[in-house]
Amino acid sequence: MQLTPITVAYGDGIGPEIMKATLAILEAAGARLAIETIEIGEKVYLSGNTAGIAPEAWESLRRTKVFLKAPITTPQGGGFKSLNVTTRKMLGLYANVRPCVSYAPYVDTKHPKMDVVIVRENEEDLYAGIEHQQTHEVVQCLKLISRPGCEKIVRYAFEYARVYGRKKVTCFSKDNIMKQTDGLFHKVFDEVAKEYPEIENEHWIVDIGAAKLADTPEAFDVIVMPNLYGDILSDVAAQIAGSVGLAGSANIGEEVAMFEAIHGSAPRRAGQDLANPSGLLLGAVQMLVHIGQGDVAEKVHNAWLRTLEDGIHTYDIYKEGTSKEKVGTQAFAQAVIARMGHKPEKLAPVSYAGASDKGIHVKLKPTTPAKMETVGVDIFLFCADRNPNTLGDKLSALNTGGLKLNMITNRGVKVYPGGMAETFCTDHWRCRYKSDDLKAINYADILALQQQISAAGFDIIKTENLCTFDGEPAFSAGQGA
Ligand code: NAD
Repeated sequence: MQLTPITVAYGDGIGPEIMKATLAILEAAGARLAIETIEIGEKVYLSGNTAGIAPEAWESLRRTKVFLKAPITTPQGGGFKSLNVTTRKMLGLYANVRPCVSYAPYVDTKHPKMDVVIVRENEEDLYAGIEHQQTHEVVQCLKLISRPGCEKIVRYAFEYARVYGRKKVTCFSKDNIMKQTDGLFHKVFDEVAKEYPEIENEHWIVDIGAAKLADTPEAFDVIVMPNLYGDILSDVAAQIAGSVGLAGSANIGEEVAMFEAIHGSAPRRAGQDLANPSGLLLGAVQMLVHIGQGDVAEKVHNAWLRTLEDGIHTYDIYKEGTSKEKVGTQAFAQAVIARMGHKPEKLAPVSYAGASDKGIHVKLKPTTPAKMETVGVDIFLFCADRNPNTLGDKLSALNTGGLKLNMITNRGVKVYPGGMAETFCTDHWRCRYKSDDLKAINYADILALQQQISAAGFDIIKTENLCTFDGEPAFSAGQGA
């Protein structure tokens, strides 16, 4: 029998209990696995490793390329970096796939027909973790969105829909406000959607989309979204389906893949044999499909559905009248094992015949780079004096050659020239300089301008170039400008 090597981490909090339960079920189902165990998380952090993972653990992950991971606890403060974010990014796990399904009437939910898969972009967006305090009053987090990042995740969502027979892919973004970043996500979605005419596609602004998801989740099938919205809304989706304790998650990369529960280490529930192991178990089911053991995945998933249907429930989904027996973590696992080989009688049984995530390979379309020209610069200043007119008049008095002061904004709102007295101003000012007729300039022009502004006694905190691509301005306007 060919065994597939996988790396397993028992994690923190409820992690060890739910991993033990999950592995017992996988073994009983005849999963063909050679397990390597690694230590990650709290203990590793507290031993002085701020990443929470030792070099030999990376070595195991890169060798087996399959990681079944229980939740871990990130200690607060002390410069500890989230191991989850680090692992996803270091291993290029760009697609986070989170199926959120309701199991009515056996698990209480207001949404009995819900069956949504959230495909969350996993590497970019505000999770780049690039943050700075810029002035006494203002801090910044950079939101980075790339074209290849968008294309990979959107293509993955459509390919996933194709492999799993899904009918529709919806995109959530906030491109009415963030026209460059979320605008790119939406634009790439529209481009890629054209290549999948057999799959319906639609776009929702994330706020109303989220409201619709919380109210009428049965209107959605696959939803693809940038990292932050996906992180938040997949928890919402799992919770309204029945419990965060019920949803598994796959993190897929070109080479390596990681499987986990969507919930965290729930430290308050740890060590009491209370936690629901279902989220991690369903993550393990996704793993089995991924490594080509769809037969075992199907056996486990159907036995688990039968257990739910028989009313054997952990505390988080137990409900008087609906449930039959309240059980702890290990007893739940034993109940699943006792039903191995059985199918649910009322819930729809699953079939993984022929399905394999490994079949999903995303190929990016080559693009021709546009002509990029710098036509100006936003110079960000610290200035404690809150009067925009004083600042604006002083800056306007400088002779800055071909680069002219076009406007000043404070937190994005235009305050000079012609601002409104009501606008609240902080100590953080963006001063926009543009070339005449958006003529191309070079970096020496920007340096000369900075030198002049600095010599006049202003505190520059950062700059952003203003560029055009094939002649199209690619920077946001000031609000009210
Ligand atoms: P959490 O998901 O750990 O727990 C929130 C609540 O949800 C719990 O108090 C519990 O009531 C319920 N819950 C969660 N999982 C459950 C389960 N399997 N069975 C029954 N009930 C369950 O979120 P949190 O309290 O915000 O985070 C705790 C720790 O987990 C933090 O250190 C956080 O950094 C970490 N975390 C880790 C991961 C991960 O490793 N993937 C993900 C999220 C949070």
